[in-house]
Amino acid sequence: MADCLFCKMVTGDVPATVVRDSDGAVAFRDINPQAPTHVLVIPREHYTDLADLTRSDPVLLGEVLDTAVRVAEDEGIVDPGYRVVFNSGAGAGQTVFHVHAHVLGGRGLSWPPG
Ligand code: 5GP
Ligand code: ZN
Repeated sequence: MADCLFCKMVTGDVPATVVRDSDGAVAFRDINPQAPTHVLVIPREHYTDLADLTRSDPVLLGEVLDTAVRVAEDEGIVDPGYRVVFNSGAGAGQTVFHVHAHVLGGRGLSWPPG
């Protein structure tokens, strides 16, 4: 998608601090971190949201989730805990419509979320 920010990160047209990548997924640090660790995991291919990715390519969704778990392990946030979030739809806070998992940790995370 020519006008998609995260597609431009995949191609390198927009710079990103990449922490992990694989055939299907890329993980990079969020530009406006909400926790000491805040990494975004995206599929290289463009899907708009979680429903689109899940229904179009569930294997690729698995690769995105596997990447999220490995990022949490690499970042040392598995203990005491971390959170993986897909904001889905504008009302839930989605602002970039290329599906992405937020991996958050490194501080206490309260529940329920805002
Ligand atoms: P959303 O609000 O769609 O769930 O998450 C989008 C995320 O992308 C936000 O946390 C925001 O800080 C991040 N973001 C927006 N623009 C950029 C950018 O240019 N570079 C990086 N690394 N992250 C970005
Ligand atoms: Zn895209």
